[in-house]
Amino acid sequence: MAGLRLHNTLTRQVEPFEPLDPNEVRIYTCGPTVYDYATIGNLRAYLFADILRRTLEYTGYRVKHVMNITDVGHLESDADEGEDKMLKGVRRERKTPWEIAGYYTEVFFSHSEALNILRPHIVCRATEHIPEMIDFVRRLEQLGYTYQISDGVYFDISKNPRYGQLSGLDLEGQRAGARVDVNLEKRHPADFALWRLAAPEHIMQWDSPWGRGYPGWHIECSAMSTKYLGDRFDIHTGGVDHIPVHHEDELAQNDCALGHRVVSRWMHNEFLLVDGGRMGKSLGNFYTVDNLVMRGFHPLAYRYLVLNAHYRSKLNFTWEALGGAQTALDRLWQRVRSLALATGNAGTAGAAAALPGAADESPEALRFAELIGDDLGTPQAMSVLWEVARGDRDPGGALELMLLFDRVLGIGLDAAARGQLGAHSAGTDVETPEVLALLQQREDARAARDWGRADQIRARLLEMGVAVEDTPSGPKVRPRPA
Ligand code: AMP
Ligand code: ZN
Repeated sequence: MAGLRLHNTLTRQVEPFEPLDPNEVRIYTCGPTVYDYATIGNLRAYLFADILRRTLEYTGYRVKHVMNITDVGHLESDADEGEDKMLKGVRRERKTPWEIAGYYTEVFFSHSEALNILRPHIVCRATEHIPEMIDFVRRLEQLGYTYQISDGVYFDISKNPRYGQLSGLDLEGQRAGARVDVNLEKRHPADFALWRLAAPEHIMQWDSPWGRGYPGWHIECSAMSTKYLGDRFDIHTGGVDHIPVHHEDELAQNDCALGHRVVSRWMHNEFLLVDGGRMGKSLGNFYTVDNLVMRGFHPLAYRYLVLNAHYRSKLNFTWEALGGAQTALDRLWQRVRSLALATGNAGTAGAAAALPGAADESPEALRFAELIGDDLGTPQAMSVLWEVARGDRDPGGALELMLLFDRVLGIGLDAAARGQLGAHSAGTDVETPEVLALLQQREDARAARDWGRADQIRARLLEMGVAVEDTPSGPKVRPRPA
């Protein structure tokens, strides 16, 4: 196969990939902020990182993948203004920040698992790395990159001539267009907080050389990525919204603190849109994996839908598109199952291993590797999977290839071959399309805090013989007890 080629946001080009250390590729992924459920949009970012990791492994590299959990509330806007996100969760749920973070972290991993996202080798929590963050800020301070104002310690971007390189920011334009409510003590509107001083009532705070407070969001990732991956690593990933602030700032801190370029390849996934528009936790129009399941879909149908688009293209989510993905996936599951039955491998886990032949040398496998290796061309790679599924290869060879490709795609073909995933049925008997539609309306009413309407819908469902129970993973329906 031709060597792996990957896009780099820093150069805006697809470039050949060469790891720093031939024995191990080191990747860092910006993890979730755990003050609420991850949306299916957020999960697109982790599906992308997962495909990247699986492709590297498929190509023969050993990978060390690190992801953080942002459990100290980073501020509402990327520019360090507004309300603390974790504080919002605390007010809404009347729990401690640690309880909130613990709960949403657990749900995040259960949703990731449902999407076959491999767990990163190291998952690190921001709240467990405060001393490392303080050291990082101190290092920047000693090197003269910081200044202190009344609410904290800031990074002085004018000290770093390369600031703006990742996003191509127009810094002068930004200065001229600065809004009046930006912190006037800052020397430049784009200067960002490294350590914020906290009022006594602030919920999460720690001692530091500058006073009690909490770290800036960007310093979390700098301190944890370099702690676990060393002072140079291969790839940093995240969604495109991170480019202009979070990653620009992280890159500046890294390079200034360590005196050299720490990460030379930054990779970003494009956004998932909903019905053509932006989806966001703060906009209240977001769906979680549980919402998909409630409507009768298998979570892997969402994985299939995401893989059918290139990670650098916007993807518009609609229920119709998800329905199409589910139908296609059902067909693939049925196909591998019948191939497994035909070859007598129906009960074998990872049946490919038991089959003779060098599948990865076949023309289809070479083409698959070529396409996936060309900046993670999942839609094209999936078309090779379909060719094999529809083709007239002998059952053993076809099964072996499909399972081989599934090592990268992760759409449950191995489980389907073992008979553990069949054509997907829509949950329990009470989950009729009408009930599901009413449930969704009730969720919408609740999201809009229209409790009267939510209660009316619950009563309507009861009349129909359906009881609703609100659980931490969303509402569940069952036949009304007699
Ligand atoms: P957050 O928890 O807000 O820091 O977001 C987690 C990850 O999801 C980040 O990498 C974001 O860039 C990414 N992200 C947020 N919204 C979307 C979306 N609609 N589509 C794709 N990625 C997203
Ligand atoms: Zn980050």
